[in-house]
Amino acid sequence: MAWKVSCYLTKPKLAVIMVGDNPASLAYIKGKQKDCEECGIDFKLSHFPENVSQEEIEKEIEGLNFIPSVRGILIQLPLPEHLDKNRLINLIDPSKDVDCFCELNLGRLFIDHPMYEPCTPRGILDLCNFYRIGFKGKNCVIIGRSDIVGKPLAAMLINEGATVTVCHSQTKDLKHYTTYADVVICAVGIPQFLTNDMVKEGAIVIDVGINRDEEGKLCGDADFENLKNKVSAITPVPGGVGLMTRAALMKNMAKAINIKHW
Ligand code: NAP
Repeated sequence: MAWKVSCYLTKPKLAVIMVGDNPASLAYIKGKQKDCEECGIDFKLSHFPENVSQEEIEKEIEGLNFIPSVRGILIQLPLPEHLDKNRLINLIDPSKDVDCFCELNLGRLFIDHPMYEPCTPRGILDLCNFYRIGFKGKNCVIIGRSDIVGKPLAAMLINEGATVTVCHSQTKDLKHYTTYADVVICAVGIPQFLTNDMVKEGAIVIDVGINRDEEGKLCGDADFENLKNKVSAITPVPGGVGLMTRAALMKNMAKAINIKHW
């Protein structure tokens, strides 16, 4: 009984595991910490050096799984090559897997019975919902097939009633697919990748990319300036999908906090 009471009194916590000093990862973590502060969630960073062993991180995750106040756990990617990313992700208690990266949570997503949803795809859907952009019957083309964006987004759009094509580096004649699409979602990681001639008039463009241009300025994958006059809607970078991703993580934390562990 005493344990229950202490759970109610303890502020919920998001635990983030980071390895190395990748500047982009550090910036993303700073953003997550700020969001937690604004939402009244405690933030714990477990920061390991680049040469940390697999066993040390596994021990950390197992410890965090058992701390009742830790309601969400995430591993900041990318990880160094010597670490087994999949094994680490799948060690996280699925009820605390607020990034929705583990096999169980991805499986649930694919059968349209999710516990959590991956943050970037959820952010994209929330953004479109806000602007009353529906997907039923739409031809959607996703460029990029990563486990964190392209693949789960494809499943979520299919569940929304869209017809989905996923393109990648081996796709022949990419333009053939994109010019027929009602919605093009670009998650490639190359500045100016999606150009004016690749989309049809009035299409919707969702730019997931986060890159630096030649001057070091943040930019997406789309040629925003030339596309904006041709399409009916386009997301900017910065200020588009990135912010929605952050908001979706906080929504997942709210879900995690409401899961009863006793
Ligand atoms: P990723 O793992 O970096 O993979 C990139 C994808 O693009 C791969 O599927 C690759 O194909 C494909 N690709 C590369 N060159 C291509 C080409 N010439 N034609 C067609 N497809 C090509 O993907 P990610 O992690 O999803 O990241 C993509 C971008 O989104 C990055 O800029 C990342 O920083 C950004 N991102 C943003 C957010 C956000 O919140 N806004 C979240 C996550 C990621 P193959 O699979 O065949 O190699």
